[in-house]
Amino acid sequence: MKASVVRELGGPEKLLYEEVPDPEPGPGQLVVEVSAAGVNFIDTYHRSGLYPIDLPFTPGQEGAGRVTEVGDGITGISPGDRVGWVSGLGTYAERHLVTAADAIPLPDGIGDDVAAALLLQGITAHYLATDTFPLSAGNICLIHAGAGGVGLLLTQIAKTRGAEVVTTVGTEEKATLSEEAGADLVVVYTQTDFKEAVEDEFGPNSLDVVYDGVGATTFERGLDLLRPRGMMVAFGNASGPPPEISPLILSRKGSLFLTRPTMAHYIQTRDELMGRVSNLFDLVRAGMLTVRIGDRFPLAGAADAHRALEGRDTTGKVLLEP
Ligand code: NDP
Repeated sequence: MKASVVRELGGPEKLLYEEVPDPEPGPGQLVVEVSAAGVNFIDTYHRSGLYPIDLPFTPGQEGAGRVTEVGDGITGISPGDRVGWVSGLGTYAERHLVTAADAIPLPDGIGDDVAAALLLQGITAHYLATDTFPLSAGNICLIHAGAGGVGLLLTQIAKTRGAEVVTTVGTEEKATLSEEAGADLVVVYTQTDFKEAVEDEFGPNSLDVVYDGVGATTFERGLDLLRPRGMMVAFGNASGPPPEISPLILSRKGSLFLTRPTMAHYIQTRDELMGRVSNLFDLVRAGMLTVRIGDRFPLAGAADAHRALEGRDTTGKVLLEP
């Protein structure tokens, strides 16, 4: 089968398109024909070496498709079933091995492409808004990169919980998408200082929480916008990792809370995973959560997909379609 393979760390050109052996299911494993693989920022961290993993590897942690073979000991899943997943590596491929315990059955009304676009960023948006800082009416939150994959979903979920939402975006086109997702105030932070814009609208130290997946370029000004005992949720590094920080700074700026959450710690059990997923599927089927697929690339175009994502040229979800 064909797959994307990284043999050395580096830029998008390190994503090679190669013939590799077909996967064989071991006990408790499924082979899935991948119909859509989700492209996530974490895939670029694996490729560049920011998050170290052993070489060579096939990137990708998220996808959806149809089961073609099942290993020994599996009950309740059969060839022909549709499943999605958000764990393991190796999704940038025509076929992928999924551990049955990680397989997410896909219901009618949720297409493979929507599942591959929703699962990882949707679970992230869900845990950020419901558990990391449980939003409710009266809260004001700032979401950086509001037209990105996580950003559009998090904005919509925050609105369903009654929060007031401020977003930052890189372009006017992205601003329109963020407004359509429900943001109350959108700042084009490539043109306007977002700290000044938030202070003009809400006053100093007004935010309950900042959800920051951008990192290096936004982290410090975000801290300055929080109310006493507000929370900085530093959940990503799209512009590079945020700077190191002394606990004393948190004290000086208002007894702030700082957390650096990772999805795996918010789906530690099957019940937790399926609880979040069924909530997301319900929201989509009720028309309360729109999944935007901004770009689709062929499997051979993984390098172009990474260039677009890292070049800030994408909105919503980026998919590879084998
Ligand atoms: P996005 O679709 O949001 O793409 C990243 C966006 O970041 C860009 O579109 C761009 O939007 C913005 N950005 C700002 N500065 C830069 C820069 N220098 N280079 C590239 N992008 C920049 O990606 P995802 O939704 O996949 O992920 C968003 C963040 O969330 C990432 O940091 C990712 O690692 C993190 N994440 C964390 C998870 C967790 O559990 N901790 C899980 C999933 C994602 P604009 O042009 O509008 O500024």
